[in-house]
Amino acid sequence: MTQRIAVLGATGSIGDSTLAILATHLKDYQVYALSGHQRLDKLLKLCQQFEPKRVAVPTAAVDDFAAQLKQAGLTIDVVGGAEGLIDIATDSQVDTVVAAIVGAAGLPSTLAAARAGKRILLANKEALVMAGEVMIKAVKTHHATLLPLDSEHNAIFQCLPAVIQQDNTQIHDSSHGVRKLWLTASGGPFLKQSFAQMQQAGISEAIKHPNWSMGQKISVDSATMMNKGLELIEACHLFDLPESKINVVIHPQSIIHSMVEYNDGSYLAQLGSPDMKTPIAHALSYPKRIASGAQPLDLFALNNLEFIKPDLHKFACLRLARDAMQAGTQATIVLNAANELAVEAFLHSQIRLTDIATINEQALTQVPVPALSADADIDDILAIDSLARRYTTKLIANIA
Ligand code: NDP
Ligand code: MG
Repeated sequence: MTQRIAVLGATGSIGDSTLAILATHLKDYQVYALSGHQRLDKLLKLCQQFEPKRVAVPTAAVDDFAAQLKQAGLTIDVVGGAEGLIDIATDSQVDTVVAAIVGAAGLPSTLAAARAGKRILLANKEALVMAGEVMIKAVKTHHATLLPLDSEHNAIFQCLPAVIQQDNTQIHDSSHGVRKLWLTASGGPFLKQSFAQMQQAGISEAIKHPNWSMGQKISVDSATMMNKGLELIEACHLFDLPESKINVVIHPQSIIHSMVEYNDGSYLAQLGSPDMKTPIAHALSYPKRIASGAQPLDLFALNNLEFIKPDLHKFACLRLARDAMQAGTQATIVLNAANELAVEAFLHSQIRLTDIATINEQALTQVPVPALSADADIDDILAIDSLARRYTTKLIANIA
């Protein structure tokens, strides 16, 4: 049966990779809905190519975009803003939601998809960093399916037994023998440079990732290794483990995408070219497999796979993520909010790359947030997010 897909964040890097796969499998998948935010010219072209039934754009752009679609001879329902994204994520015609909006903006629609019992292909790691417990609870209560697109988490998912893939709490059953998870990290563009060199880095150097081609925010997060910190938190929620059970190892070649360590001494790893089409194709077709278009590995050319311990002074964001995870979800919300604003400030040349960690640390220690209660919901989370953003704006002004 044809799977009807909504790609939220269709104009981004994950959107590109997802639609490249879907374009080659249109018999099995229907591109039912798309969303874009600023790159609406690109969204229009995607509408012409895929002819979705529905599309979401910012509220202020609805009328203009609808007129452009009409002029192009397309009949597509246009919805606006956060409500529009939720409307599409919960549309009864949609089977699968690709959650590929960047940052906190992706949380409400991703959570709504979970509550509507959808199959969710999750790229938007910030949703789990902000609302891991609420998201996982919604998935379980509403029998949604959560499949990780993030290459590391997708690798770990693939290396776990099927019973744990279906129910993450099974990871605690000692008969499965899971001892640890290993997240691999490329180390980003500054791996071989000093802290002083990193301090002087310009925007173009920071977003030039050695192995992966990605959106700007995640590229900066990779340069500071905040991305690995966010992924550590993401992994805790996806695989129901404390941060102490998750190790991070720098593997600059990005061939091993992550590993599961078992108590008999086995390490199961997933390998592949650094191409997001592989994890996306895996999640789209799970438990089957489809061709992704990713280049096969040239194993004979891989004679030097390195494994390096991360320097937590240079990459303080990774240490902060562990601290935040230990402190509780209120802290991971603060860290995520502070980081989003700090990255934006860096991309606007207001602060240095290394100031991002300083701002994140100040936010974690200074924003006065009470622990979240066990029955906290999205409003409580968004309240902490707003408070953290107000504080961080001042912290950035002090440094800039
Ligand atoms: P991009 O910046 O390339 O794309 C982001 C998408 O989100 C775009 O479609 C953008 O629209 C949309 N968007 C941005 N802001 C808003 C908003 N306020 N409301 C609605 N939509 C918005 O990012 P990536 O594709 O690189 O990353 C997307 C997510 O996937 C992130 O959470 C990232 O961490 C995660 N991820 C990405 C990987 C990658 O390889 N790129 C790997 C693993 C995870 P527009 O472009 O039209 O403005
Ligand atoms: Mg990743």
